[in-house]
Amino acid sequence: MTEVASMMTIGGKPVEGIDSMPVENPATGENFAEAPACSAAELDRAVCAARDTFPRWAGLPHQQRVTDLVDCANALDASVEEIAKLITLEQGKPLRESLAEVRLSAEWFRKTAELSAPSEEIPDSTGGNSRITMDRVPHGVVAAITPANFPVLLAVVKIAPALLAGNTVVLKPSPSTPLSSLRMGEVLNDALLPGALNVVSGRAELGPALTGHPYVNLISFTGSMHTGQRVARAAAPEFKRVVLELGGNDACILLPGIDVAGLAEEIFRRSMVNAGQFCAAIKRVYVARDQEQELVDALASLARSATVGDGMDPATDIGPLTTREHLESVVELVSDAVNNGGRVVTGGAPLDRPGHFFPPTIVSELGASTRLEGAEQFAPIIPVLAYDDVSSAVKRANGTHYALGGSVWGPEAEALDVAARLDCGTVWVNTHGDLRHDVPFGGRRASGMGVEYGYWGLLEYTQIKVTNVAQRPAS
Ligand code: NAD
Repeated sequence: MTEVASMMTIGGKPVEGIDSMPVENPATGENFAEAPACSAAELDRAVCAARDTFPRWAGLPHQQRVTDLVDCANALDASVEEIAKLITLEQGKPLRESLAEVRLSAEWFRKTAELSAPSEEIPDSTGGNSRITMDRVPHGVVAAITPANFPVLLAVVKIAPALLAGNTVVLKPSPSTPLSSLRMGEVLNDALLPGALNVVSGRAELGPALTGHPYVNLISFTGSMHTGQRVARAAAPEFKRVVLELGGNDACILLPGIDVAGLAEEIFRRSMVNAGQFCAAIKRVYVARDQEQELVDALASLARSATVGDGMDPATDIGPLTTREHLESVVELVSDAVNNGGRVVTGGAPLDRPGHFFPPTIVSELGASTRLEGAEQFAPIIPVLAYDDVSSAVKRANGTHYALGGSVWGPEAEALDVAARLDCGTVWVNTHGDLRHDVPFGGRRASGMGVEYGYWGLLEYTQIKVTNVAQRPAS
């Protein structure tokens, strides 16, 4: 068998696995490493290890788990370069962004360690003298299922609060980007009770096997809307709890008269994060019709001057798309836009070189109800959509299944008025996509259920348990 690059972590032990799968470098299109392909028996061992460890982990004093999370932060800090390199090799983003991702992940452990969900006394308001306590208790075994775009950070935003609340975890990264999560599992192992964090990697069948495992109590899932539907279905029969952080199709509305040329660079940057593979990237821009051309020209100029290339090259601004299948779906989406009257101003076709490179692309004059406006493209494409009045822009912005984020740019009072009419989990004014460890983030409608981050995110990893003590006279 080919040697695997990183091992699974099961019950505190490194596990190579009886099977393996190739991992592709999206910048070359070549397989560069092998990762374990977890078998059904190995998955069962991982979930059982989490279940067996749960009473001991949940029984530790809160302060001990705080210390362990800080130890995780330190362990990650000590491995930033190694893990960041794996992210770039398997996911594609520029190395400096991978370094930032791992550093932020270490910081996330520290910031999460400062949180707590203490018990509360509920006063007896009925005139009786019951003593009622509400505790926030852990669920048990958390299945953390993560997408390919930020493999380490999006794992840590689940692992840290889940562990702090007293749950144990089985983490399953995307088959496209398993190596950085596996290595993180190895690096964190010494900081945690064996079995508190288990990391398994595998092919397409591993996700359903994990969500269907009877010992999983809560599924914390980040990924696409369609996979989220499957996860919700899998959770239903046993009423497993779910947190679903799903796709977005964030609209950015520029109010009439705004300095579009001055804002173009920022809009471009906030669309092109990770080659557009960011849930809260700007995915469509609404602009007043008489300013459309000025914006299109400014964005096209930025697109033409961006350097697309291998994330390991320091000159690269925009890396490849992570998978070949996704690149093919993006080509199809642009072709559909063109068939519906869209004008590709620049970009629009994959680069003629190995790897999954799609250049920054500006599309204007889109026909009504095209898929490029209604679907999540998750690619370095900015559809510029002209409006005649702001109300019609709001209607179109709200007119998709998605409701993750959105933004309004313009004078604050006016922008706030429009922001109040946007139907999404987060609306930004004069910025977009700023996510913070202390502010809850989550989608409405098909963009998800529940929130992550901060105190409110921590609560998702707990459930309410009430103890109601009747006060009786001593007999
Ligand atoms: P994806 O849905 O293809 O995969 C996500 C994860 O689900 C992977 O680990 C995959 O192996 C697993 N999976 C696949 N089928 C499964 C099943 N039937 N049961 C259980 N698990 C299964 O998503 P992706 O392409 O890796 O990520 C991109 C998507 O994630 C985009 O839609 C993006 O917007 C979304 N996303 C959302 C957020 C957020 O916070 N809302 C953050 C990042 C990414």
